[in-house]
Amino acid sequence: MSSTSQTNGSDKTAVPADAKAPVDRTHEIAVQALEKIETLDLKPIPQIYELWFRYFQGDPEIVRAIDTHTGKIDEVVCHKIYKRFLSDSARDEAVRKISDEIQQSMSDMMSMLGNVKSATNEYGDTLTDVNKKVKSANSIEDLGQIVSSIVQDTKKMLQKNQELELQLVNSSQQVTELRKNLDTVKKEAMTDGLTGLHNRKAFDKHIRDCVEDSTTSKDPLSLLMLDIDHFKTFNDTYGHQIGDQVLRLVAHTLVDGIKGRDIAARYGGEEFSIILPNTPASAAMKVAEMLRKNIENKDVVNKANQQHLGQITLSIGVAEFKPGESASDFIARADQALYTAKHEGRNRVHQN
Ligand code: GH3
Ligand code: MG
Ligand code: MG
Repeated sequence: MSSTSQTNGSDKTAVPADAKAPVDRTHEIAVQALEKIETLDLKPIPQIYELWFRYFQGDPEIVRAIDTHTGKIDEVVCHKIYKRFLSDSARDEAVRKISDEIQQSMSDMMSMLGNVKSATNEYGDTLTDVNKKVKSANSIEDLGQIVSSIVQDTKKMLQKNQELELQLVNSSQQVTELRKNLDTVKKEAMTDGLTGLHNRKAFDKHIRDCVEDSTTSKDPLSLLMLDIDHFKTFNDTYGHQIGDQVLRLVAHTLVDGIKGRDIAARYGGEEFSIILPNTPASAAMKVAEMLRKNIENKDVVNKANQQHLGQITLSIGVAEFKPGESASDFIARADQALYTAKHEGRNRVHQN
């Protein structure tokens, strides 16, 4: 563009040329990864995004795995490479970090582009003015032509900026989608797949938070540990699938029986836990007894053939948080109470 370089003396015309310079490495990688995902028609889910981000970052193992792959790189291939080289444990955090970085990059780029665009618009206006004036002079036709070509170049520049803006809008939309997917992944990571309750990981987090809150506020805090009685025999008699249905039934019954800030989790296997914030042991015992009765009174029926499967019972251990004790000591005391409830004959509540 020889004609634009003639006007580079002004600040305004310098902007489009500068536009590429401050785009740092992360921005470039983010855009490259998003473009690649689009070109290969892959879903912009966090794992695939992370894989391509690392590829363009130059992670040697990822680069080798992808570059030496013969045949089409589809989602299955991406997932295989991801699984092989990118650890599961770091997944949530890594993706969240990358996603935040991209979001930041995108908004930086959008605001930068806004500046470029308004500057270029002004540049176009100025040149149009010059063009008019020169034309009205009527005597310097050559100069008029030169200015016309400057205007043409400016138009091209504007068009290019529009394309770039569109690309950025698309990238930004992809990033938003990526973040939505990321939230889903995070939620799934804290939810028990069978029952839909909080899983053990979520429980561990909640109990720590509740212990901290209770320590600060001095509000009472109670914990229930609940275990289905003789569930092994139930499984052996009716099979694992019916056993799974019962686990879901118990989970729903527990959720139906609690309220407000109470948190029900699947602690493991056929064991559940319920955190009762702002609840002293006396009230927790009542909740436990109510839940025990609700389960005991359920008529457990096999939906497939209406066969009655007998009674399901729970043993429950109750403990109230003692100021100063650790979360794990608190859990151990509730567990101990559950153990006692089992030994005293099951289908009962014991407080420790
Ligand atoms: P207790 O009254 O002493 O608790 O006896 P139990 O048989 O319930 O306890 P035990 O620990 O011996 O066995 C627990 C059983 O729970 C073993 C397993 O078959 C069953 N179980 C654990 N997780 C699942 C699951 O996800 N699905 C099904 N169907 N069964 C499970
Ligand atoms: Mg059991
Ligand atoms: Mg058990």
